[in-house]
Amino acid sequence: MICKKCKNSGSVTVRKEHMYCDNCFMLNINHKFRSCIGKNKILSSNDNVLVCLTGGKSSTVLLDLIFNGLSQDSHKKLRMVPFFLHITGLGEKENDITVAELIIKQCQSYNFNVYIVNICEYYFQRNNTLPSVNSVTDVHNWTELNSNTNLKSILGKMTSTSSNDIEMKIKHDIFIRAAKQLKCDFIFTAETTTTLAVNLLSNLAIGRGSQVQDDIGFFDNRDENIKILRPMKDITEEELHHYIRIKNLIEISVDTIRGNSLQSVIKTFVTDLQENFPATVSTVCKTADKIGSVDKNTNRCKFCKSNLPEKSDKITAIDATIFSRTVSNGQPPIANRNTGAEEQEDIKMSLFPFIDNYFCYCCSKNYLEAGLHDSNFFEISGSKNL
Ligand SMILES: [Zn+2]
Ligand SMILES: [Zn+2]
Repeated sequence: MICKKCKNSGSVTVRKEHMYCDNCFMLNINHKFRSCIGKNKILSSNDNVLVCLTGGKSSTVLLDLIFNGLSQDSHKKLRMVPFFLHITGLGEKENDITVAELIIKQCQSYNFNVYIVNICEYYFQRNNTLPSVNSVTDVHNWTELNSNTNLKSILGKMTSTSSNDIEMKIKHDIFIRAAKQLKCDFIFTAETTTTLAVNLLSNLAIGRGSQVQDDIGFFDNRDENIKILRPMKDITEEELHHYIRIKNLIEISVDTIRGNSLQSVIKTFVTDLQENFPATVSTVCKTADKIGSVDKNTNRCKFCKSNLPEKSDKITAIDATIFSRTVSNGQPPIANRNTGAEEQEDIKMSLFPFIDNYFCYCCSKNYLEAGLHDSNFFEISGSKNL
């Protein structure tokens, strides 16, 4: 039982085979974090970076890694100016307050400030102030102000799979807007190898396969000016667990994935996989890294800002669905070609509204589902000019 690096006695086993002492383990994690940022050569010296915090394991470790990096002496110093953001407002109120309080305490212990925004208020009302909240009393006052639960009730009526998807896209939008306000050209989010594997498989399952590169790679390039980076992508859930134990950090369980959804089933699958076949999860992510985006169209989806596919003569899954619909309607195609085409267009619109012109496949499906509960939802969410 000796450390594979320094040959002293080991204390941490990673992936059931590698033994480290606490010290070498921490050096290794710091190295993974720094080399992920370094080798991608995107950040330059003293860039403003917005760091998104959730209070969960990976967010807690990210905060600690940034603090460590900033406190190194000159040649090893992490050269960036961090701004911290926490998004709240979709959970049970008591729980939201507990999480916000923990994040404030975490930031205070490193002497950082944190901005906290309520998702409903900031997203719907286009409220452009970012409150910097630094005391527990502030949190209580500020949650009293935010009684707008419109978003929460709409998401509550939709299927869990769609709500999970929409929530993620809305948060993404808020990250970008907050970064613009705070003059940050970069955003750090805390996805680990494990979360990225879940996101990859979920993307494939819900029809966002063509967006895998932006959603899973080191950086998300959908915004022209602001890049979302994922510096924790080479760190696994298991490693977070050891890191938190060794440094005695306090975190809170913040699973935002709603149960009974494709995403929650996939998460259980990936967690089991990680447990029993530890090397498989990182292989899943490495495969994702190699998948380039095929859509080079400059038109973007109005909701998720992904590239829309270019017009093509090839038959797609959507054509197959429309064909099935025509067949199950029990009517033969109309002989007149023009009317036939119009009919096809009508069916397409009723099954996949605004697809390819305004929305990608998945957002079109979400639009249809949200419209059943609140026809203003997508209009409010930035797709006003349909
Ligand atoms: Zn060692
Ligand atoms: Zn979309």
